[in-house]
Amino acid sequence: MDITEAMSSLGHLIDGRIVRNDATFPISSPSSGEVIAQCPEATNGLLEEAMTAAERAQPEWNALGETSRQKVIGAMSDALVGHLDEIVAISALEKGATGAALEAYAAPVFMAHLATTAMPVDILDDTPERLVTVVRRPIGVVAAISPWNAPILIMCEKIATALLVGDTVVAKPSPFTPLATLALGRIWKDIVPPGVLNILAGGSQLGAQMVAHRATRMISFTGSVAAGQEIAAAASSSLKKLLLELGGNDAAIVLPDVDVETVAEYLFNVAFLMSGQTCAAIKRLYVHESIYQNMVDALVRRADAAIPAPEAEGGTFAPIATRPQYDRIRMLLDDALARGAHAATRSVPPTSSGYFIPPTILTDVKPGMKIVDEEQFGPVLPVMSFRDVNDAIAAANATEYGLCGSIWTSDVKTGADLASRLDCGTAWVNNHAEVAPHVPFGGTKLSGVGRNCGTPGIDAYAELQTRYVYKSADRVKG
Ligand code: NAD
Repeated sequence: MDITEAMSSLGHLIDGRIVRNDATFPISSPSSGEVIAQCPEATNGLLEEAMTAAERAQPEWNALGETSRQKVIGAMSDALVGHLDEIVAISALEKGATGAALEAYAAPVFMAHLATTAMPVDILDDTPERLVTVVRRPIGVVAAISPWNAPILIMCEKIATALLVGDTVVAKPSPFTPLATLALGRIWKDIVPPGVLNILAGGSQLGAQMVAHRATRMISFTGSVAAGQEIAAAASSSLKKLLLELGGNDAAIVLPDVDVETVAEYLFNVAFLMSGQTCAAIKRLYVHESIYQNMVDALVRRADAAIPAPEAEGGTFAPIATRPQYDRIRMLLDDALARGAHAATRSVPPTSSGYFIPPTILTDVKPGMKIVDEEQFGPVLPVMSFRDVNDAIAAANATEYGLCGSIWTSDVKTGADLASRLDCGTAWVNNHAEVAPHVPFGGTKLSGVGRNCGTPGIDAYAELQTRYVYKSADRVKG
């Protein structure tokens, strides 16, 4: 199907039907700033229909059994593979560049993993007298809410995990990048039984209504700390279960025993992945003073080779996906420069249109500057030097965030020891920003509550039931 035609026919997925309503909101291209589509905006009435359908469908979906649910998730994954080019093309238009949309390729891998994952059962006692197990039961209706940076992978992982456990879902993508997720709804409409998966487009007000809705029993949210805090507060009176995957301010610490050019290549790719718009991107870099200048030079060479411009004009570096985020990164950069930071990279004149910011290496940066203390979520990397690695560990941990961190060294044992001192949900030695469907991921401190992926990820969507079964019927016979 032609992409423009595909985009203009998109609608919400409600109870097995694609629904287009009159209320719409505009979607802009980050490459040009121009409006490229109108997206239907769900009303209160449509939310009510979706919630009613999800609540009605849940017992039957659970009763289907694990194997049948896995088959449906497998079929969804296969259908996504069959439509990946279309999904990436739509996502690239709303996110501004093909490179920024490539996260979609990981989505069917995560779904296929869940389609072959058995729900865990813990056997605590298995004696002649009794069997004691912990089993997973569904929670009910899950409100799944995603951000704009990796909309396909994040939403697919949420949906597939919830469906595996036997929950049903009402999903809402970011209002900045809703179209690719609505396209998923069209692809899956005839694969998932009516009501089991519902997808609505809308803004944060719709998200808040989903969170507050009586039928919602669990909220799976990925996004900013501020929204996560609002959601936690709103969910408290009814004690809804929460999985909150929030922001990060990841530090990477580079010891003096590495090859600078080799490590610079890794660091550059991880810090500027999707133009820095990745929750697990390196956001602060601490380099030993003996290799500091060489490392800065190596990073600057790579940054200066990037072309921040529309793909049609030969661009190789994606724009910032939203106007508010573009304004925020410009503010953080201006604030740092005004306080004495130095941009070591060449200055690139802004393009006439689009939200482009070149990859920028900042030196002369220090704590107290917003660019160090806050999550920038964009292509500006503060690089600081250290003499004593204990100071670097203390600086890495001196943040309210705790998503990820990494140590780079040729002494792997020292690296592992230092990694154990990083106060974050994922720590690497000689890597960063790696995710896999069987490996738990999530944050400490303000970076979140709970984990997705792996067994903890399944447990987040489940109620644990402890089950004692006494084996002999004689126990209750007279
Ligand atoms: P955001 O919090 O502004 O919005 C995320 C989603 O929440 C959107 O769909 C939005 O409409 C909705 N929303 C906003 N306020 C809400 C409320 N009060 N109630 C219900 N829904 C609400 O975040 P964003 O700007 O889209 O995403 C960027 C942020 O996401 C960054 O901080 C980034 O670090 C974080 N993120 C975290 C992870 C992770 O796994 N930890 C992954 C990706 C992105």
